[in-house]
Amino acid sequence: MPHRASFRLAPIVLALACAAGIANAQTGAVTATPTQVRPEVDKAYTQLMGAPAIQKLLDAVKADHDRAVEDLKMLTEIEAPPFKEQKRAEAFLARMKALGLADAKIDAEGNVVGLRKGTGNGPKLLISAHLDTVFPAGTDVKVKERDGKLYAPGISDDTRGLSVLLSWLKVLNDNKVQTVGDLLIVGNVGEEELGNLRGMKAIFRNHLDIDGMVGLEPAADGTVLMLGTGSHRYEVTFKGPGGHSFGAFGQVPSAIHGMGRAIAKIAEVRTPSFPKTTFTVGTVGGGTSVNTIAPDARMAIDIRSDEMAPLLETEKKILAAIDEAVAEENKRWNVTTLSASNKLIGDRPGGRTQSDTVIVEAATRSNTAFGHKTLLSGASTDANVPMSLGIPAIIIGAGGKTGGFHALSEWIDVTDAWKGAQNSLVTVLGLVGVQGTSAPLLEKRAPRRD
Ligand SMILES: [Zn+2]
Repeated sequence: MPHRASFRLAPIVLALACAAGIANAQTGAVTATPTQVRPEVDKAYTQLMGAPAIQKLLDAVKADHDRAVEDLKMLTEIEAPPFKEQKRAEAFLARMKALGLADAKIDAEGNVVGLRKGTGNGPKLLISAHLDTVFPAGTDVKVKERDGKLYAPGISDDTRGLSVLLSWLKVLNDNKVQTVGDLLIVGNVGEEELGNLRGMKAIFRNHLDIDGMVGLEPAADGTVLMLGTGSHRYEVTFKGPGGHSFGAFGQVPSAIHGMGRAIAKIAEVRTPSFPKTTFTVGTVGGGTSVNTIAPDARMAIDIRSDEMAPLLETEKKILAAIDEAVAEENKRWNVTTLSASNKLIGDRPGGRTQSDTVIVEAATRSNTAFGHKTLLSGASTDANVPMSLGIPAIIIGAGGKTGGFHALSEWIDVTDAWKGAQNSLVTVLGLVGVQGTSAPLLEKRAPRRD
């Protein structure tokens, strides 16, 4: 990460835990602590925190805590594996409608989408949490209470985010708080694993007028994710004629030997530390029996980077290594019968929201108001999509202490979790502005063309 004069660089690895189909997805993103914010950002949050109407709204968030935890339990207990989010989506939609967004609907991709309109002519801010979990159908999702914590797969990642969106909607409506900008409230599909951000990709395909995005994910207080690690994943299949290990020896290439050559070459690929760029052959398989020259072999490769250019460069080297390996194996036996084909099975665009943009400063200033130091971080999340489009996007926490993401032992401690829900709501309100209190900070963008 290039040094930025206005930030102190600190070698802290992030604390945000989501996405991309791996447990505790963490990147080595270097975090920087913003030291100052624009005067207009400071002014907006001073106005918000000093307004009696906003204090009343924040009291309502606290008062709504127990009800929000009931929503959390209810939604957690509806399983939502990748590509099977529909039941949870329907339940989330029903709550959204009951809380005042009668026009909310499920889009063609499966996302729940509701628009809470502002006074007009303000920015449109997407606020979202993802419906899907990493857990397969049949997982025990019953919420269990133990030692002051709630345990259940998916409860913090990201069902807490969903329940906080509903709580915000309720308190905004109950207290008749009129934002200037529009809030596009979304519970989206396809964040985890091979969902490949399909929900978020559809949202940005269908809504060309979104000016910014604030996503909720389990994260420590003060965390502001502004870096979206991109990833490409491949499934590579090697195919040859195969044959008897003794009888056909010398006449046919081996799919497994060819793949072994490829893995050896891939293992030697060099990548930069900054921006952090990584790769691994994650799984291998193939072959028929111990005494068969293998007719087939396959492997899955994961390539990641905090920036797209080194990601694509690494991908190019790996794909070239596979071609070279096939050529060498064919040459070894003087044949042309081994081939390899690859399929892109994971495609997450990457990008970043610069740390000196208004959206990051807004979250920073809101964190300060709640007594938290801001930690900038990165991971692969729904925010990758807007970041890759150049649209300002951040992911922040929704309150509560959380852990065990992507494991059956996932948990949340909701003690005082309302404080995090207040903090993140204030971040959002500063961005869209509140009628009679503060002007919107988020800039309106020229609508994108399809
Ligand atoms: Zn998540």
